[in-house]
Amino acid sequence: MPNFYHPDQIIRPEILALSAYHVPPATGMIKLDAMENPYPLPLVIRDEIAQLTADAPVNRYPDASATQLKATLRQALTISDDMDILLGNGSDEIIQIIAMALARPGAVLMSVEPAFVMFKMIAAFANIQYVGIPLQKDFSLDLETMLAAIAEHKPAVIFLAYPNNPTGNLFDPAAILSIIQATSGIVVVDEAYHAFADASFMDKLAQHPNLLLMRTLSKSGLAGLRLGLLIGRSEWLVQLEKVRLPYNIGIMTQLIAEKVLHHTAVLLEQAEAIKSERTKMRTFLGTIANIEAYPSDANFILFRIHAASQIFQALKQRKILIKNLDGTHPLLENCLRVTVGTPDENSQFCTTLHTILSESV
Ligand SMILES: *Cc1c(COP(=O)(O)O)cnc(C)c1O
Repeated sequence: MPNFYHPDQIIRPEILALSAYHVPPATGMIKLDAMENPYPLPLVIRDEIAQLTADAPVNRYPDASATQLKATLRQALTISDDMDILLGNGSDEIIQIIAMALARPGAVLMSVEPAFVMFKMIAAFANIQYVGIPLQKDFSLDLETMLAAIAEHKPAVIFLAYPNNPTGNLFDPAAILSIIQATSGIVVVDEAYHAFADASFMDKLAQHPNLLLMRTLSKSGLAGLRLGLLIGRSEWLVQLEKVRLPYNIGIMTQLIAEKVLHHTAVLLEQAEAIKSERTKMRTFLGTIANIEAYPSDANFILFRIHAASQIFQALKQRKILIKNLDGTHPLLENCLRVTVGTPDENSQFCTTLHTILSESV
C-alpha cells in the first residue's frame, strides 16, 4: 500500500493559507448581504422563459461562442463594433481568466484596498503576485501612492471597481485616467454596479489601448444566471479567449439572458426603484446619532457604527442578514454593509436597527 500524501504535502502553500469564500446560510432571513436585486422578473417574462427552457436542446453543448447573446449584449449595452466581447460564468470567472493569462513568473496583479475580495483571492488561485494599495480615509484613490507603486511593481494588470465594493463610491475619473496613462500594463475597470451609477468608462475604451471594461448582469437582477462580460480590443481579447473554457456559458444562461435583455426597460425600472430606496435608507441612517453612512453610487450602503459586530449579530438574531466588514481591513473598522432591498425589507431593517440601538443604550 502506498504512503498517501497528506493535503499539506501537495496542495500549494498559498491555497492552504486561504480560507474559502464564506457564503452564510440565509434560509428564512431578510437577505441584504450580497447586492442582489430583490425584485423577481415580471410573470410574463417568466412565462416566456419557461417556454424557452422547455424547448432548449439540453442534450447538445451550448453555442461555444454565444454569438446571438453577444449580439444582444452589444445592442443592449451599446458596445461599439470596434470592441470585442468575452463572456464569463460571472465576472468572477473573467477575473480568473485575466489572472491566469498574465501569471508570468514575477507578474503583479494590483488593486486597491478595501476592494472586491476576489481580486486578491483569484491572484492567489492563479499564482500571480498581488499588491493592494490602501485607499485614503475617505475611500478615494491615493493617486500619489498608486503612481509610485505602479513605477515600483510594474503591474501586468490593475483592477479598479467603479463604483467600488465594499465602499460604494465612484473614484475620481481623472485619477483613474492618470493610472491608465501611467501604467504599461492593462487596467480593468470593473463596472459591476453600473446600473446604479450615472458614470462609465465605456466611452474611454477607444482612446486607451490598455483599458478593458468589465460588466455583469448579477447586480441588475440575474445573479442566478452567472453572466459577466469583458469589453475591449481584440488584440487583448483574442489572447484571453484562449484561456476561457469552451462551454463556460450554459445554454440556459444564454437563452434566458438574451430573453431578459430584450426587456431592458424592466431592469432599468427595478434599478430606479433601488436607487430611490438607497436615498431613503441613507437619509434614515443619517438621522441616527453615531452612525456614519457613506455616500453610495451602488445598490448598497456602507456605514460605520459603534460596536458593529454586536449590531450585526443582533440583526442576524432578528433574521436580518447584512455584511459585517469589521476586522476585514483597518479602514473598515466598525463598518457594516447593507444591500438595498425592497421597500418592505428596507423598512424592516431600519426599524430593527432602531430597536436594537434603543435597547442597547
Ligand atoms: C459582485 C461583484 C463582481 C462579481 O460578479 P459576478 O458577475 O456575479 O461574478 C465583480 N466585481 C465586483 C466589484 C463585484 O462587487
